[in-house]
Amino acid sequence: MPNPLCLKPTTMTLSRNGLAVHEAPRNTPVRAKVDVLVAGGGPAGVGAALAAAAEGADTLLVERYGMLGGLWTAGLVNPFFEAMSNGWLVTALIDRLKAAGAWRTWKFSHTFDPEVMKRELELMTQEAGVTLLYHALCVDSIVEDGCLRGVLIESKAGREALLADIIVDCTGDGDVAARAGVPFEFGRLEDGLVQPMTLMFEVEGVGEYLQTSSGDLYDRMAEVLARQGLDYELPFGRVGYTPSIILLPAPGRAAVQLTHVYRLNPLDPADLTRGTVDARRQAHEAAEILRHVPGLESLRLAQTATQIGVRETRRIVGRYQLDLDDLLEGRSFDDAVATCAFGVDIHDPAPGSGIEPRGAGVRIKPYEIPYRCLVPRDVDRLLVAGRCISGTHEAHASYRVTGTCLATGQAAGLAAAWAAARGISPANVDGAELRAGLAQRGVRFLGE
Ligand SMILES: Cc1cc2nc3c(=O)[nH]c(=O)nc-3n(C[C@H](O)[C@H](O)[C@H](O)COP(=O)(O)OP(=O)(O)OC[C@H]3O[C@@H](n4cnc5c(N)ncnc54)[C@H](O)[C@@H]3O)c2cc1C
Repeated sequence: MPNPLCLKPTTMTLSRNGLAVHEAPRNTPVRAKVDVLVAGGGPAGVGAALAAAAEGADTLLVERYGMLGGLWTAGLVNPFFEAMSNGWLVTALIDRLKAAGAWRTWKFSHTFDPEVMKRELELMTQEAGVTLLYHALCVDSIVEDGCLRGVLIESKAGREALLADIIVDCTGDGDVAARAGVPFEFGRLEDGLVQPMTLMFEVEGVGEYLQTSSGDLYDRMAEVLARQGLDYELPFGRVGYTPSIILLPAPGRAAVQLTHVYRLNPLDPADLTRGTVDARRQAHEAAEILRHVPGLESLRLAQTATQIGVRETRRIVGRYQLDLDDLLEGRSFDDAVATCAFGVDIHDPAPGSGIEPRGAGVRIKPYEIPYRCLVPRDVDRLLVAGRCISGTHEAHASYRVTGTCLATGQAAGLAAAWAAARGISPANVDGAELRAGLAQRGVRFLGE
């Protein structure tokens, strides 16, 4: 009989009112110390890690799930918006998806196979020499004299520290930055509500079904409900942004963007749970209704996503805040790191509230994103990339698309590697030099 193993419990005491526990100080083991640590392996995190490693930085990427891709994979989000405008790693990834037969043109955009995406992202990170650490959640930030020194992670191995010269927060929610004390904004100004969440799902048996518009599909679903006398309420009105049946590269397969859950806080696990359960019910019921729409008779629900799609949470306050005017004017910046031409896509946070989403549907001009949006105020040795960069609720509704997140990620990774190699703060990386360095690597800016 082998000896039983035993872990030493953390000592703690209950507060007098029983509403909190006081944890005893403890020594936390350091699992790794690297040049560049990337928190989160979604589009932004993959871009950041690949760029930093390509520049020779010892790079570690920590991810809570057992896959890369973030909402591309765990969230089953398609299409790949802003795919063709940014270049460098965005183009490198697309070339690999094309070569693997996992890419197709759909309407005005492009879709990909999420399973192939998982594999290609792992191959790319391995080839670049990025160290991956899956199944670990960043739970706290280690700050010393205003400098971020590392993060605390929790995993099956317990609580450990990861230390780094520079850390890039690509968690989507700005978890590392927020815990380090960087100020952030949350939701729209009027009521603090964020855009609704959507659980994406995939269906099979749809052939080459090409919906003309979201409004048209809404009408067809409404007809089915009236005809069949079904007790089901579509979770949105007749709007331009949902529902969508998005054809994927695999024959007859499509991603469906339809479910909506409102007035929930995606940073609260109870709200996330309620939203996920409700959205999964919506997905199963909607699939039944869709099977009565002419042309979709053979539709079958294949899978719902692992992760409910979170459109918006924290937007960290950086050295520049991108706003709607920048988009309307199509502004360029000397320290530009990425471009975006995607419209202001606001799914109404609270239908019926009487607050009109500002900027939704207005015509914007292609614009640039300055490096300063990636540099947080107040805390040093930290960069952010992806949907949590510094911008207003309205501007965020445009640059949150995946091609742009990958582009801000690659810029942050390059800047992080330079800062680590030169022993300087990311705030002291020259934005114009960074822009030129990105251009040399194939990133295209406005007017080029
Ligand atoms: C329903 C929906 C539909 C969308 N449709 C489209 C679309 O059609 N096309 C498009 O281009 N964009 C679309 N978007 C927007 C886009 O998917 C996201 O804005 C984009 O994925 C954000 O990229 P990111 O890398 O910043 O974050 P994410 O994709 O969210 O990736 C963050 C990663 O960090 C990990 N992570 C988070 N917290 C931690 C932590 N504390 N510790 C460790 N790991 C952590 C996550 O597991 C994840 O892998 C959609 C979004 C939603 C919600």
